[in-house]
Amino acid sequence: MANPTSRLTAALDRAAEGGRITPEEALELYRDAPLHALGQAADAVRRRRYAGRENLATYIIERNINYTNVCVTACKFCAFYAPPKSEAGWERDLEEILRRCGETVELGGTQIMFQGGHHPDHGVEYYERMFSEIKKAYPELVIHSLGASEVAHMSKVSEVSPEEAVRRIHEAGLDSFAGAGAELLPERPRKAIAPLKESGERWLEIMEIAHNLGVESTTTMLMGTGETNAERIEHLRMIRDVQDRTGGFRAFIPYTYQPENNALKGRTQATSLEYLRLIALARIFLDNVAHIQGSWLTTGKELGQLTLHYGADDLGSVMLEENVVSSAGAKHRSNLPELIELIRGSDRVPAQRNTTYEILRVHDDPAHDPVDEKVVSHLSSTVDSGEGIRKRRSLKVLPTAG
Ligand code: SF4
Repeated sequence: MANPTSRLTAALDRAAEGGRITPEEALELYRDAPLHALGQAADAVRRRRYAGRENLATYIIERNINYTNVCVTACKFCAFYAPPKSEAGWERDLEEILRRCGETVELGGTQIMFQGGHHPDHGVEYYERMFSEIKKAYPELVIHSLGASEVAHMSKVSEVSPEEAVRRIHEAGLDSFAGAGAELLPERPRKAIAPLKESGERWLEIMEIAHNLGVESTTTMLMGTGETNAERIEHLRMIRDVQDRTGGFRAFIPYTYQPENNALKGRTQATSLEYLRLIALARIFLDNVAHIQGSWLTTGKELGQLTLHYGADDLGSVMLEENVVSSAGAKHRSNLPELIELIRGSDRVPAQRNTTYEILRVHDDPAHDPVDEKVVSHLSSTVDSGEGIRKRRSLKVLPTAG
């Protein structure tokens, strides 16, 4: 039997050459491979996949719009939600949501992500109404939003199947799912942090339903709430197995738990090196997922830059609005010129992409870089402003479509 070092080297060499590694090998590499060797293998995989454009790293301009913080699911890591009877609950009206969509278009944004609580009254009709109004007003905006958890919730409220819920919101204007709510898919850590959410298996089943209906998605992972190394690798294995069947996950986006203002009270957090190792391992292990995104929003700009040398090909977004991880303490901010400089500082050529990762423009000459600092992360925040918010006493559900 090969000794551990030669076993690790053989697995890394095979991965770097494009071979598949097993979950057992993935765990051993994640725990024991030298950091730089792991990063080099991941970078080799990225370079081969993007041969001819391997010098590029992409970003997108988008806005997260939060429609309500009222939520029945009470995840322990969440600093954003308010329970249904809480005075802290609010709901944003459609007029204000449309205004924010218009502002996104004016600032060059191409995508909006809706994030919100599992409101006890929000069924399929609520989302149909919202998405169709947005598409009517701004057909150029891509609606890349929600995930299997919202589908599970809205189909329960409307008493329809998840298939019907996906089909109807897709017809109303949802282009793709953002894959929020994956958190940690294995049962033990998921129950520990989100006991009222659907199981990880159910989350994946619903994403598979969506993929089979032609609605693609990204997928995420929340690191640092007390999960084990083996559970992190199991999360990746569960995603890879579904992806082998559907090919519907466009990207994998791990991000780190933020410790403020939530019920877990910052008990554990992922370290920077653990994050880099996970990015590299994801690039090697998820050989069927095209894009790996480094999250500078939760880990910081410098670590974001490093991820581009550990297998990531995308640095996320200039996020014109973000409230969910910000509520839990994520303080990193950026603007468009700075994000471009971050990518260039990693020895990559920055390129703006759209939701399906088509390149919209390449910033190959600093002389022509945009200087408009209006395109800035956290242009607005529900934490900062009360615009368009109905407090709980006057909450009302938007009228149903048609
Ligand atoms: S993470 Fe989402 S589902 Fe969980 S409590 Fe927060 S808003 Fe609700």
